[in-house]
Formats: sequence, C-alpha cells, structure tokens
Amino acid sequence: MEKQRLDKIIASTGRFSRREVKDLIRHGRVWVDGAPACSAQDQVDPETVAITINGEPMLYRRFTWVMLNKPAGYLSATEDGRGTTVLDLLPPELRRQNLFPVGRLDKDTEGLLLLTNEGALAHHLLSPRHHVDKEYFVRVAGRLTEEDCRAFSAGMVLQDGLVCQPAELKILTAGNGSEACVTLREGKFHQVKRMLAARGTPVVYLERIRMGNLCLDPSLSRGSFRFLTDYEVERLR
Ligand code: URA
Repeated sequence: MEKQRLDKIIASTGRFSRREVKDLIRHGRVWVDGAPACSAQDQVDPETVAITINGEPMLYRRFTWVMLNKPAGYLSATEDGRGTTVLDLLPPELRRQNLFPVGRLDKDTEGLLLLTNEGALAHHLLSPRHHVDKEYFVRVAGRLTEEDCRAFSAGMVLQDGLVCQPAELKILTAGNGSEACVTLREGKFHQVKRMLAARGTPVVYLERIRMGNLCLDPSLSRGSFRFLTDYEVERLR
C-alpha cells in the first residue's frame, strides 16, 4: 500500500481528531516500529508498520464500516443543500473519509443504516443478484390480517406497475394500528410504504432492524453509531 501521513492514518481510525493526533505525537505517545514518532508528517505504509498509541497497538483498517441508528429527519445522502444528511451525525474525522450510505432509507425512516468507503463491497451488497434480506418494523394505520400476509408472500403487483418479489409480513400486534415485521429481498423506491398502502394500511412508522445477518445493535441510541467489527465486515462478503 502507498505511504501516507502518520496523522492521517491515525485520524482515519475515527478515535482522534488530527489536532489530537498531533498532540499525541508531540508528547511522544505515538510509536512506529518500536521508536517514538518524530512528526505528524512522517510518511509510512499503514499495512506494514506497527503503530502504538499510549502503548496500545493501533488497529489499521483500510476501509471504514459504520453502523448508524438513523433518526427521522436525515437524508440518506452525502450532500444536501440544507445540511441534514446522515453524515452530519458523524464526527468530522469520519466525515473526511468519503463515507457514503449503503442504500437509502427515506427521510422519515429510522434504524439500521450502514456507511462505508469500500465501494466494491457496498455495490455487491446492493446488487439485486446478491439478495440481502432487509427487515423492517412497521406500524400502520388500520388492521393487518392473514390475507395481507398471503398477498405479501404471493408477490404483489401494484397498481402503479411495481412488481414485487415474494416478501414476508409477520403480524406482531393485530387490531387497529397493527404492528408487523416486513422482510424484503429487494429494495425498490418506497417499497414497504407502497406495498402496505396498496393493502389499504398506510405506514405511519418505519424502522429498519436488519440487513442480511447484521441486526441493528440495541445498544445504539437513535442518532449514534459504532464501527463494525472485522468479523461483521467479513460476514457481509
Ligand atoms: N421501504 C420504504 O418504503 N421506505 C424505506 O425507507 C425503506 C423501505
């Protein structure tokens, strides 16, 4: 791998800002291959040197993967004229890493959103051929019935022409204002909302709770994020 500035490499872990990294280096807290680093501008290959910070080995990852618990009110985009994208929920060190959302959630949808700068794997996950299940918790206006479940599993064709693959609708609470889990193997524009509207039960609340084998981490409060572990990233491949 190409050599990069030491401060950039350390800041890319998202644990320290560039200013904090400079201070750490100045105070002799950063060691490279067994010797204290001299300057933030030192050029090193992050994949071949051993870096320690405050005596702890630094784990370098070539790509960054973040799980965000998206709140309503943020666009799944990298830029928006009004400045309310999901990137605004990340610290500046991470915003500088060219992260982008892996797929989209509507502005009013909450829950699991992955962000990364690993284009090839993100593309693979989004590819229709790859079929990553996406599971949503949903609350509707009206009552869901077993007939709705059957319509979902048969594969719906909507009046607007959208042809949906068979999907799963699992009712959690019946009665007015029903709650359910919906699992899709595709991700067309506003798909959950369109399918449920077509059944006469419009969505009033939508939250993504799972993508493939990755569940929304229950310890993440709304609006907060964490890095994926190496194991979690490997399981996405
Ligand atoms: N389906 C929708 O209708 N909206 C989302 O945000 C995700 C899936």
